[in-house]
Amino acid sequence: MATVRPETFKEIPHNYERKSIVERLPLMKNLPQPRIRLVEYERSAEREHTMENAAVIVCGGRGMGNKKKFKKLHGLAKLLGGDVGATRPVVYAGWADYNALVGQAGKHIKPKILFSFGISGAIQHTTGLGEADFIVAVNKNPQATMMKMADVAIVSDAGDVLNILLKGLRKRIRE
Ligand SMILES: Cc1cc2nc3c(=O)[nH]c(=O)nc-3n(C[C@H](O)[C@H](O)[C@H](O)COP(=O)(O)OP(=O)(O)OC[C@H]3O[C@@H](n4cnc5c(N)ncnc54)[C@H](O)[C@@H]3O)c2cc1C
Repeated sequence: MATVRPETFKEIPHNYERKSIVERLPLMKNLPQPRIRLVEYERSAEREHTMENAAVIVCGGRGMGNKKKFKKLHGLAKLLGGDVGATRPVVYAGWADYNALVGQAGKHIKPKILFSFGISGAIQHTTGLGEADFIVAVNKNPQATMMKMADVAIVSDAGDVLNILLKGLRKRIRE
């Protein structure tokens, strides 16, 4: 048996023609009594909004510099209708909550567009990025792994680019 985290892979079209071999095996005797009992089964009407199914994610790393600058990422996420994600050092520094952690020890995301500010791209982080459709990365270091993974890589100060984006978007909304 195998399990995968939600949104790790793109769903492939269902093939109802596929046939599988069904083997009937005899049940072991003296099985222990189950300690779990199904009380009720209720399917939720709507798919709940979670970071795992968000279309836009604005992720920030240590390169954001400090908590105050990191908090500005929420402004961009709000303008774009997205969520904020974070790397482990950011969570450990208390700039973001643990439930914002993206990666091996956190959430696996699959947004249509991912903004990555000041993130190096360590494997423990990128393993949680699933199949983000489009990545915009901002980093001072063009050699950072995250920059190589990006569709658009901006070599600059993360805080500066964030401020420019916020200013531009707010202006567009006012017009
Ligand atoms: C068992 C284990 C599990 C882990 N699980 C996770 C996990 O789930 N998620 C996770 O994220 N990490 C995890 N980690 C940690 C991971 O290995 C990395 O340390 C972490 O992802 C690095 O975070 P970062 O990119 O924010 O920081 P850094 O690696 O320090 O990178 C900061 C980046 O910011 C850039 N930068 C600096 N200043 C600026 C600036 N002013 N403007 C723009 N760019 C700038 C730098 O060039 C650098 O690329 C795990 C580690 C272990 C050992």
